Amino acid sequence: MVIDVRWGSATHQGRVRDHNEDAVLAGPDVFAVADGMGGHAAGEVASALAVARLAELGRLHEADDPAALVVGALERLNDEIRRRAVRDGTGGMGTTVAGLARVDGPRVLVFNLGDSRVYLLRDGQLHQLTEDHSLVGDMVRAGELTEAEARRHPHRNVVTRALGVEPTVEATVTLVEARVGDCFLVASDGLFNEVPTAQISDLLSTPGPVERRARTLLDAALFRGGRDNISVVVVAVAGTQASDGLEVDTSPSPAVAGPARPEDGGSPVIRTAWGSTLGGSAPGEARSPDPSRA
Ligand code: MG
Repeated sequence: MVIDVRWGSATHQGRVRDHNEDAVLAGPDVFAVADGMGGHAAGEVASALAVARLAELGRLHEADDPAALVVGALERLNDEIRRRAVRDGTGGMGTTVAGLARVDGPRVLVFNLGDSRVYLLRDGQLHQLTEDHSLVGDMVRAGELTEAEARRHPHRNVVTRALGVEPTVEATVTLVEARVGDCFLVASDGLFNEVPTAQISDLLSTPGPVERRARTLLDAALFRGGRDNISVVVVAVAGTQASDGLEVDTSPSPAVAGPARPEDGGSPVIRTAWGSTLGGSAPGEARSPDPSRA
């Protein structure tokens, strides 16, 4: 069994930067954003490599140990980006990465390195599933800064972990029990440094196609200044399906109410029927700079 999802994504260079160093991976099995660093022709190379290699992971719900596959892929990516930087003479090139993958059962594997984030909207409550690997993230956790202060801090772009920077990487990987109705958001800091958390929650809760929700979130960041590249991927859990693509006939469970703790392992809601299988963006689509959108 694997969860059935709908997704939408959007990426934009913003209103200040002259190119987009973010890259987006929109399904069908892995969803991610990568926020490249190192300047023109470096950051965007690193972020594009990251989403391309993650896309190659494919159907992780068929893997025995998907967490090990993701960690291994990120370690190889780290080496590849470092070799590429030496070859191209683009020292300092690197990228954050954050995302999620559908794995066996009603579960999602969440991973990150750096300050891109994965959120979960469940029962109207927005939960940040990832911890920022960043200077201001450390300061917030130490009680030295508020979230609002972190968004305006002059060193808000300094990450403490990233792909391509150090000889070794330590990604954070967690398993989340998904429920029907859950809505995941993967975003680069160009979104959440511009748009307050409450507005992100409101926009993510808006009924309608997930692709529209992704565009609305991106537009909110542009409206508030768009000072950085902005990337969002929205993944809504619509149901479950058998791993072979057939529908699962399972007794319906009542919706679980109350605030969710993603790690609590509560029983997922399983629906018996749904109108379609996978939908959303074109399968396997890996988008990087999209300067065409004004
Ligand atoms: Mg950024």
